[in-house]
Amino acid sequence: MTRRVGIIGHPVAHSLSPAFQSAAFAHCGLDVVYERWDTPAPKLPERVSSLRAEDVLGANVTIPHKEAVIPLLDELGGQSARMGAVNTIVNREGRLFGFNTDGPGFVAALKAEAVFDPAGKRVLLVGAGGAARGIAFALVEANAAAVAIANRTYERALRLAREVGGAGGTVTAEALGGALGEYDCIVNCTSVGMHGGPDPAGIPVPLESARPGTLAVDIVYAPESTPFLAEAGRRGLRTLGGLPMLIYQGALAFELWTGVRAPIDVMFAAARNEVTRRAGGAA
Ligand code: NAP
Repeated sequence: MTRRVGIIGHPVAHSLSPAFQSAAFAHCGLDVVYERWDTPAPKLPERVSSLRAEDVLGANVTIPHKEAVIPLLDELGGQSARMGAVNTIVNREGRLFGFNTDGPGFVAALKAEAVFDPAGKRVLLVGAGGAARGIAFALVEANAAAVAIANRTYERALRLAREVGGAGGTVTAEALGGALGEYDCIVNCTSVGMHGGPDPAGIPVPLESARPGTLAVDIVYAPESTPFLAEAGRRGLRTLGGLPMLIYQGALAFELWTGVRAPIDVMFAAARNEVTRRAGGAA
C-alpha cells in the first residue's frame, strides 16, 4: 500500500517540504508520497480527522494552523504542549500524536552544521514570533546559559521571555540595538531579509558591536544568503543560513513518521535544487 504524508497549511504552494521529503522517501526506498494539503481554517477539523486513515503516516503543519490543530489531536509529545504549537503529526493506528520539531531542528542544525553546542552559551534571538518561540524553548532545553529576546515590538519579546522563562534557564527581553558583545550566537528570527517579505533588503539588528567569532544565524532560507548573513560575513562573524533548520526539522519529522534515519544530504540537495529552480523563475 502506498502511504501518504502531507503539509497542512494555507497557503502551502511555496513550501519546500514536498521537494526534500519526496527525495528522502525515494532515496530510502519507501513507498510514500508527500502531498500539499492546502487547508483553509474551516476545513481544518475535517483534514485532521482524515489523517487517521490506514494509509496516512502523518503530516506537517504550517502557518496558520500550528496552534489550532492542538485540540484536534489525541496526545502531545516533546515540548509541543508547553510551546502550544505543533508542526508534525504522527498517525499511530488511528491515534494522532502532535510534536514540534522546529526548535529541536534548529538546535540540531547548530550542532551539525555550525559545530556549535548551545549548552553554556549566551544566545540573542531577534524576533518574537512563532519561529523565535520554538527556538527559545529548544535553547532552554539544550541548556543555553542565557537566551535574550529582542523584537521590534518590545512587549511581544517581554511576553515570550516570561513564558519561556517558566520552562527554566535565564530568559530575558532585551532592547533592540543594545550591545551585542556578550553573545556567542545572534539569530535573526524575523522575516526581515526574506524574499517577498516585509523588508527583503533589510538587516534586523546592527552588528557593529558583535565580537569577531560570534556565530550569526539567519533562519530565513530564501534567499539562502541574506543581507544579515552578508553583513555578518563582512564583519568577520561565523555564519549559518536558514536551510539547515528547515532540513533538520524535516528530518526529525521524517524519522517520527518512518522510524528510518533521515538522509540529510539527499534532503539538502533536493531543497537547494528546488530553491535554484524557483530563483530561475521556473516555479
Ligand atoms: P511571525 O510569527 O509572523 O513573526 C515575525 C517576526 O518578524 C516578528 O518578530 C516581527 O516583529 C518581525 N518583523 C516582521 N517584519 C519586520 C520588520 N519590517 N522589521 C522588524 N521586524 C519585523 O513569523 P515566524 O513564523 O516567526 O517566521 C519568521 C521568519 O522565519 C520567516 O522569514 C520564516 O520564513 C522563517 N522561518 C524559517 C524556518 C526554518 O526552518 N528555517 C522555520 C520557521 C520560520 P513584530 O512582533 O514587531 O511584528
